[in-house]
Amino acid sequence: MVLKNVKKLRVWTERERFHGKVLKCLTVILQTKGCYWNRCLMCGFSKELNSKTRFTLREQIEMAVKGEEFDVLKIFTSGSFFDSREVPDEFRSYLYTLLQSMDVKKLIVESRPEFIRDGVMNELASMPFEAEVGIGLETSNDFIRQNCINKGFTFRDFTEAAKKLRDYGIRVKTYLLLKPPFLSEKEAIEDAVHSSMDVMDYTDIVSLNLMYIPSNTYVEKLWCRKLYRPPWLWSAIEVLRRVRSGEMEIVCDPVAAGSERGPHNCRKCDKYVAEAIKKFSLSQNLADLNVSCDCIRIWQKIVEFESYSRVPLVQ
Ligand SMILES: [Zn+2]
Repeated sequence: MVLKNVKKLRVWTERERFHGKVLKCLTVILQTKGCYWNRCLMCGFSKELNSKTRFTLREQIEMAVKGEEFDVLKIFTSGSFFDSREVPDEFRSYLYTLLQSMDVKKLIVESRPEFIRDGVMNELASMPFEAEVGIGLETSNDFIRQNCINKGFTFRDFTEAAKKLRDYGIRVKTYLLLKPPFLSEKEAIEDAVHSSMDVMDYTDIVSLNLMYIPSNTYVEKLWCRKLYRPPWLWSAIEVLRRVRSGEMEIVCDPVAAGSERGPHNCRKCDKYVAEAIKKFSLSQNLADLNVSCDCIRIWQKIVEFESYSRVPLVQ
């Protein structure tokens, strides 16, 4: 639920797991100058920056936290929180001091692996609150990450960064992408499950991101020509089931589920299935994924045949 939309600043409250409990989390999308890499095939964030705010990072965070009570702060920058060109060192120090004064229990941020360096990690690790850093690995398969996503780093880069974070006592969240372009529905499921297993020893939690179609992206071009379809929600449920059965913690926020550009099933069951996924993400209880709809039979056929057709059989 969007609580505030002040001067194009996006802030909302949600719930977040914290050592088995569910706490109130304030999520803020800070507008920075954007990700320096800016070459991923599915990334539309840099294009959104045309509507750039005139507020400084400090002003943005002050507006976001004003009047709010929360235990967890989640900050998205659409890039790397530890890239000093994007988020200056002074702002990070200011934020840490602010969070200490507000008695916040946990800070969650995101970064590419190349910015996980000793200096910044030392500073973060010395704070009294828990820290978690999300890394958008997308897949453990270097070929897929390079050729289907163009992410610009390797699995080895990720494991080195994750090890460093954990050496500093910082939690690691690994983002995996369900259905990079050029993968069939079945290949996408298998890739996400295998990737989860591959990151098991390096991460505290996996966050499964379901592809949606952002504007002005390469993925949008494929989608417009019916060469790409976002994943079925049944595929997400299958990945969550298989990974959770292996005792791993895995969450998923099905962004834009049921919309034209978002992950979807038959449209009729989308809302209901997306709710089940959200409920499971908080509970980690597999029973919450026990949902059904007649379209599951169509999905089963798609999973079987799309590996041969190589293009989506149903949009
Ligand atoms: Zn359905």
